[in-house]
Amino acid sequence: MKRRTFFKFGLSSAALAILKSKNIYAGFNQQDRLNNNLIKRNNIVISTWSHGIKANDEAWRILSEGGKSIDAVEAGVRVTEADITNRSVGIGGRPDRDGHVTLDACIMDENSRCGSVACLEGIKHPISVARAVMEKTPHVMLVADGAKEFAVQQGFEKYKTPIKEVKKDWKAWKKKNKDLLKKPNINHENHDTIGMLAMDEYGNMSGSCTTSGWAYKMHGRVGDSPIIGAGLFIDNEVGGACATGMGEAIIRIAGSHTVVELMRQGKTPQEACKIAVERIISKHTDMSGLQCGFLAMDMHGRVGSYSVYSGFNYAIQEADGKNEMINSDFDREW
Ligand code: ASP
Repeated sequence: MKRRTFFKFGLSSAALAILKSKNIYAGFNQQDRLNNNLIKRNNIVISTWSHGIKANDEAWRILSEGGKSIDAVEAGVRVTEADITNRSVGIGGRPDRDGHVTLDACIMDENSRCGSVACLEGIKHPISVARAVMEKTPHVMLVADGAKEFAVQQGFEKYKTPIKEVKKDWKAWKKKNKDLLKKPNINHENHDTIGMLAMDEYGNMSGSCTTSGWAYKMHGRVGDSPIIGAGLFIDNEVGGACATGMGEAIIRIAGSHTVVELMRQGKTPQEACKIAVERIISKHTDMSGLQCGFLAMDMHGRVGSYSVYSGFNYAIQEADGKNEMINSDFDREW
């Protein structure tokens, strides 16, 4: 059947039924909240690793003034991207083995709109370019030269990378790792992506994710972070998830999408993250150095996270609390 002919048949009755029913999923209506004694908690921002504290501060400024979650998650991670002391996100990030700092980022809003850039060089704020892809093009993802051309055309600020100190470290690394350069190994030196999820006072959720990826990766390598469904996924009916760690393993199980789908089936965010991590473990025979972590929030405002090895943590800021770090194996009672 030709594509055009297909469209002539119009929507199936199942699709029409879905469109007519406003409340598609059983899990998150008001009655359910009352039955579960769950009070919906709005105005929350969470983000991966300790750089999340400063990023949350900025996102929180927007949320607490009644701003939208999409603006909060963009502004929040821009703080991390602009921090030249950060070696795993943005312009201070470490390069690939050929000396190029290639940045990956994506963003997703409450209407399932999304945008992404991968392998982007010399632009200060990949997350804002990802948002521009979402808002100003009919596409979801732009990569490498195409992404850069678009960014320049849109007037995004350029930045020369790698910065001096990082270049020096890369040269020293190359000298010490001649063997690694011969075959494409994973180098475990640094890899701390920022993934952020925010729910605004209207109860809508958005997410963002940005990284310079694995230090000294092969040129052209793209991890999970800019891949919608792997590094980040939001479904405003269910919740959102983001990931950090070895991107290859996260992509293999469509990690963040898996976490959201598990929450759709009734798992708490913590349970969902744990099951996704267990799935990663079950798919690999060699787990040495294979760290992966997920962070998730559902539409009740419940939060959870889990990682293969301990040591993963996240920052959380919510209405009646302070901006604080939580260890990923901390399992709350909800
Ligand atoms: N997930 C990122 C990547 O694979 C790196 C990380 O978060 O550790 O590029």
